[in-house]
Amino acid sequence: MKLPQLPPLSLYVHLPWCIRKCPYCDFNSHERRGDLPEGEYVDALVADLEASLPDVWGRRLHTMFIGGGTPSLFAPGSIERLITAVRTCIKVDPDTEITMEANPGTFEIERFRGFRAAGVTRLSVGVQSFDDARLAAIGRVHGAGEARRALDAALGIFPRVNADLMYALPGQGLEQALGDVREAIAHGVSHVSAYHLTLEPDTNFARFPPPLPSEDESADMQEAIEAELAAAGFEHYETSAFARPGERARHNLNYWTFGDYLGLGAGAHGKISFRDRITRTERTRKPVTYMREALEGGANRGVRTVADDELPFEFMLNALRLVEGFPVTLFQERTGLPLHAIERELGEAEAAGFIERDAMSIRPTRRGERFLNDLTAMFLPGERAARRTIPISTSPPGRPGRPS
Ligand code: SF4
Repeated sequence: MKLPQLPPLSLYVHLPWCIRKCPYCDFNSHERRGDLPEGEYVDALVADLEASLPDVWGRRLHTMFIGGGTPSLFAPGSIERLITAVRTCIKVDPDTEITMEANPGTFEIERFRGFRAAGVTRLSVGVQSFDDARLAAIGRVHGAGEARRALDAALGIFPRVNADLMYALPGQGLEQALGDVREAIAHGVSHVSAYHLTLEPDTNFARFPPPLPSEDESADMQEAIEAELAAAGFEHYETSAFARPGERARHNLNYWTFGDYLGLGAGAHGKISFRDRITRTERTRKPVTYMREALEGGANRGVRTVADDELPFEFMLNALRLVEGFPVTLFQERTGLPLHAIERELGEAEAAGFIERDAMSIRPTRRGERFLNDLTAMFLPGERAARRTIPISTSPPGRPGRPS
């Protein structure tokens, strides 16, 4: 493969602590015990960034995302030190989007102004639901009142605010799921992420499954949520993402268009392209080990070059999440492979009714959206396709799991 040009570069930073582990969560998140080692962790992130610079020399940063875990547990001063270090080390686009995830706890709400002053331009609030009983059923530490206050406060402070919602929750009916969406819209957010609750392996919910809506019920919820948001003027632009015109998440769009991202922090994943190869990186998951390795200059150990025959699947795993699909030229721009290298797979996907295409673009059909796992599996390297189960994450790939 040979890339005609390098894609936009984003930065993902993982802050891995939470107040309590939610029973459905398979992220690399760890319960906070006592004071967080904020200073040492930011030192480690900065050391990790400095050690990674040779891989991105001369490149400009397009967006930055501070995720977790619960990043809002960090003090605004720590976030400011992190953002300042990034701006010092890498050229940053003047209008760079800097997103941070926040838990809607009272303690965090009081810090919102500080996060904005530190440079955060977009706040993603982990509302999940406006129903106390549903929040309790999924083990969240916040209540509906806090979620409302957090959104109101965020909307008064940040230029862009996203509400993260989950549906198909234990004991939830269609009207309740729709009620959550209506309330998010009424608050005035410009972006909504609506994630289907799934039981991930090695979580407490996988070990002790709660009573969940049936597949048909949750499919009805999904359709009703999409219709509600469309009627309110939101564009459904990615499997789980909805935005008012001009308000799409630029950071996540860079993942879905197979852009590059440097991944810093415990368990963070990254993707860095060079002219002749594409690499994947993964940092060690345990915070204490990560800090030690980063401060010794050795955090960047888990690097592997993506084989040419894996690139079509990796590209499609992201790009086919886009409801409007992607321009045909993007495949070659991002993978360095000619589109005719996957002509057979594209033909099969079209014959199965999973995609539509013309001279300009390729996009998933409604059926393709519904059977996204089957569709993306068609692009796996041949001999692996027969025996591999495909994990499809519903979250941006820079973070090790779904949104919090
Ligand atoms: S879902 Fe979010 S808040 Fe809950 S444990 Fe996972 S990362 Fe933490």
